[in-house]
Amino acid sequence: MDKRLLEILVCPICKGPLQREGGGFGQGPLELVCRNDRLAYPVRDGIPIMLPEEARALSSGDPLLAR
Ligand SMILES: [Zn+2]
Repeated sequence: MDKRLLEILVCPICKGPLQREGGGFGQGPLELVCRNDRLAYPVRDGIPIMLPEEARALSSGDPLLAR
């Protein structure tokens, strides 16, 4: 597997794994979710934006965190 791909799929804050969410038909935009930090990193033009200041904060009750 591409080593760089692994790097971008790790949370820059806690170094934990990220979960891909959305991006499909009828779903929200593709995001990479860190459950530890409750942050959703955006993916723009296919490029994950792994910056905490760009991430969307999720509430504790967000359905993205319940899976
Ligand atoms: Zn994290």
